[in-house]
Amino acid sequence: MRLVLKLLLVLLAGFAGVMALMDLGGSVEIRHGDLWIGLPLAAGILAAALGFLLLHALLRLWSWLLAWPARRRLRLERQHRAEGELALTRALVALAAGRAEAARIEVTRARRLMGDSPQLLLLAAEAARAEGDEAAATEAFEALAAQPEARFLGLRGLLRQAEARGDWDAAREIAAEAQSAEPSAEWLRAERSEVARRRQDWGEALAFSGADGPRAALSLAAALQEKDPLRAAELERQAFLAEPGFAPGVIAHASRLLDTGHPRRARGVLQQGWNAAPHPGIAELLLGLDTDRIRRVRLVEELTRHTPAHPESRLLRARIAFEAGLTGRARHELNLWRETGQADRRCYALLGEVERAEHGPDAAREREAGWLREAAAAPVEPVWRCGHCGAEHSAWKPLCGACGTAGAITWSGAAR
Ligand SMILES: [Zn+2]
Repeated sequence: MRLVLKLLLVLLAGFAGVMALMDLGGSVEIRHGDLWIGLPLAAGILAAALGFLLLHALLRLWSWLLAWPARRRLRLERQHRAEGELALTRALVALAAGRAEAARIEVTRARRLMGDSPQLLLLAAEAARAEGDEAAATEAFEALAAQPEARFLGLRGLLRQAEARGDWDAAREIAAEAQSAEPSAEWLRAERSEVARRRQDWGEALAFSGADGPRAALSLAAALQEKDPLRAAELERQAFLAEPGFAPGVIAHASRLLDTGHPRRARGVLQQGWNAAPHPGIAELLLGLDTDRIRRVRLVEELTRHTPAHPESRLLRARIAFEAGLTGRARHELNLWRETGQADRRCYALLGEVERAEHGPDAAREREAGWLREAAAAPVEPVWRCGHCGAEHSAWKPLCGACGTAGAITWSGAAR
């Protein structure tokens, strides 16, 4: 209604204007050489107004035509984005459903429609990996690493790939780059420690190992690699301090102290190590210091004072007593151990020796028959064993020679 009123008013104003112009009278003349145009004033004003309107319309049309390619581009972009996002969703669904090939096709379509955004590159790499196409995944991760804001994502992908194919030198480089790109990523330290372990660079593995890492084993491994005796000695000391119950660390530290003329401190270390975790290697080193049989009995009494009921303490006391000719004492210790039901085969072997020494081989044979049955059911003695492949080792080593696993050799009984 208001529009009708406005139109009516405009028409009335226009009509009044024309009427006023008609009343105005007068004329417009254009003279150029012989050309002469004469118009009434009203017609002249009307013609000028119409001319202005026409020019305006032409200019508008021109600018509309000029903007036409940009408008078309925008419309296409919008359309591509919508289609691309649809393809992206389909790719995610396909990947989640384990349809790797479909995922790759959809990601390729989305990349064609929307360009290489970090999200799409990451998805392309994951789809390629799911399909088993590592080369395509590498390409996508490299493109991702080349984008400054997504560099870390690309490097992380490349790191995983290097680890998966066992290329530890490349993994080391990539992990270092990744950490410089994202210094606050804590897990990268553990990752770098693991990579160093795989490269058997124990010093670096130790440097990147956290407080909860196997610091004693890594320190000792680094000490074995160290050429400078002073630094090696310090690493051995660190191994002992990190875990006094880690016998190889105790033995290495005490041996070094003995070699450098500190027998008292060495004995203290051996005692502390035995208290934390009795191990035959510790006793062997200590007993190597004295050959007198009776003094050795006292030495062992002292060593096992805080751990009298430990199987290794019982066995050690029995063996040393037996060697000193104290067979009754040896048998007493072994029987105490046997009564716990935890005695391993070493207990029965030594019992047999004690029996033979006391009663001669014939009398011993009768008793041995009963023990042999018990011994067959008893656990085998603990050894250095790889927790990964189960291979036995004569001594602790940082790396299992049988399967190449690092840090897997521990002191333990056989898996039964
Ligand atoms: Zn192994």
